[in-house]
Amino acid sequence: MRDVIGGVVSLLAPRRCAGCDETLEVSGVFCGACATLIEHTSNPCAVFEYGGPVADAIQRFKYDGRSELGAALGSVMATDAHAWAGKVDAVVPVPLHWRRRRSRGYDQAALLSKPVAKSLAVPLMLRGLRRVRNTPSQVELPHRERQQNMTGAFAPWRLGGLRRLLLIDDVRTTGATLRAASEGLRAGGASEVHTFVLATRVLVQSA
Ligand SMILES: [Zn+2]
Repeated sequence: MRDVIGGVVSLLAPRRCAGCDETLEVSGVFCGACATLIEHTSNPCAVFEYGGPVADAIQRFKYDGRSELGAALGSVMATDAHAWAGKVDAVVPVPLHWRRRRSRGYDQAALLSKPVAKSLAVPLMLRGLRRVRNTPSQVELPHRERQQNMTGAFAPWRLGGLRRLLLIDDVRTTGATLRAASEGLRAGGASEVHTFVLATRVLVQSA
């Protein structure tokens, strides 16, 4: 009963800005102040540059249990996904290892992928890939060790013979995760793997 009431209350509650968590005056994902700080990329493979309100939104979405931000941020990706229209047969999120999904309670890339698949009118394949190794967090590793850390981390699972795939993740840093996941999809018979992320991050390499 409490869940039912909570659900109704959250439906009635005003939406909050994904970046600063302030109540939104008008419908949208980011408030006007955050919107001025956000940098869009010119790259069709990523919507935003990582940083500012986008980094805050991703932090809240992934680490503060704010799973509802997945639909909002995914809708932003969906708006930018037109570059892939007609070019992909399905959308595949980069999966978390089941242990991490269990502790977080949701898989962030899967939530982002839902509005994208809907806007492209293609199936969302939640079981296209399987994460077979629970790799240490990439953030903790030096740049050159990231690719090594990810090699063989993914295996194809139920691709259903679909060959042109759009692989989705929240953040691209070195690209090691996306490369390993693409390899997994190709091993499962994919002929084309395109990647699309919410934000791309440029690492400043330490000397
Ligand atoms: Zn804001």
